[in-house]
Amino acid sequence: MKYFARKCDNCNKGMNEGYCGGDGLSYACSHECLFINGYTQEEFQEDYKFGNIYWTDWGEDLEGHIEDGYYTIDGEFIESEEDINNHYIS
Ligand SMILES: [Zn+2]
Repeated sequence: MKYFARKCDNCNKGMNEGYCGGDGLSYACSHECLFINGYTQEEFQEDYKFGNIYWTDWGEDLEGHIEDGYYTIDGEFIESEEDINNHYIS
């Protein structure tokens, strides 16, 4: 995998699945990256219940998510106008 739709806020790695908080305000690639800065399981349960955070997978449909650019595995944002989805499929 060369293209990543999002970047983890904590470890700054490119990610195609992970936790999405605040409908796009924050991203975390794993449990290790989610429960930081004092964020607790209890808070997570509340946020999850109210739909403020959820686990999602962008890899299934990268086209709509990286049409303006993409992240590398190292979290570097690449602005690109090439048709990334072609590369993704092939
Ligand atoms: Zn992470």
